[in-house]
Amino acid sequence: MIHLKNIKKTYQIKKDEKLEAIKSVSLKVEKGDIYGIIGFSGAGKSTLLRTINLLEKPDEGEVLIEGRNIMALKKKELRHMRQSISMIFQHFNLIHNKTVYDNVSFPLEIAGIPSVKRKSIIEECLSIVQLEDKANQYPSNLSGGQKQRVAIARALATNPKILLCDEPTSALDPQTTDNILSFLKKINQELNITMVIVTHEMDVVRKICNKVAVMEKGSILEEFSLSDNQYNP
Ligand code: ADP
Ligand code: ADP
Repeated sequence: MIHLKNIKKTYQIKKDEKLEAIKSVSLKVEKGDIYGIIGFSGAGKSTLLRTINLLEKPDEGEVLIEGRNIMALKKKELRHMRQSISMIFQHFNLIHNKTVYDNVSFPLEIAGIPSVKRKSIIEECLSIVQLEDKANQYPSNLSGGQKQRVAIARALATNPKILLCDEPTSALDPQTTDNILSFLKKINQELNITMVIVTHEMDVVRKICNKVAVMEKGSILEEFSLSDNQYNP
């Protein structure tokens, strides 16, 4: 489903100083995986995650999505491909002056979906994360866990095949973390969405990932399976 081949990424941080954020990383995520990338802050996890939808363009290497090298796609094809890859973030990244409903509507408006069709998609996505009753609220009136559920609903709106999660529970307390993880697990299983989760919390990996890569200083130290992961909160 996702194949990163010999990815390298260097940042020019000063005129004569470079930082090797990703040294030479390869990894494969299979369809249906919840693939964890764990490591300390600064390890390169987030940079690596962002190469999957080319928010970050690698200096070297290939990004294959379902066998297609997306670095070779034309602009229009890339835009289309990106619609099948959604993302959620540590700080939710909701639009503060839009209601919950309009936040979820936003990617659909960008994709040019007509309003009648949007309405049923939005209602369906809000029902998946059990927030139908918050449709007309503004993000500032919601708890952290509810905000992340809105972000998940927004991510689902475009009917993605892949969900990229950048520290999705790092701003949440342990109980809310469990709640969000159980929604992610449910979405993985019921909607068959492949996930990559970047985290510094072993607990997140232990609870929902079936495969894990440990990252340190821009490299993958080891990769292992957690095949008996039966998280049932
Ligand atoms: P992690 O997600 O594991 O905390 P990151 O991928 O965010 O790590 O960062 C890896 C390294 O690259 C860090 O040293 C970080 O400071 C650096 N870095 C990340 N993004 C940029 C950027 N846009 N410009 C310069 N340096 C960056
Ligand atoms: P428009 O194309 O003008 O956005 P919509 O029919 O999509 O028309 O909706 C107009 C506004 O009404 C939306 O932006 C939203 O704020 C609100 N709205 C529509 N349907 C719902 C709903 N099921 N729940 C909550 N708010 C809704």
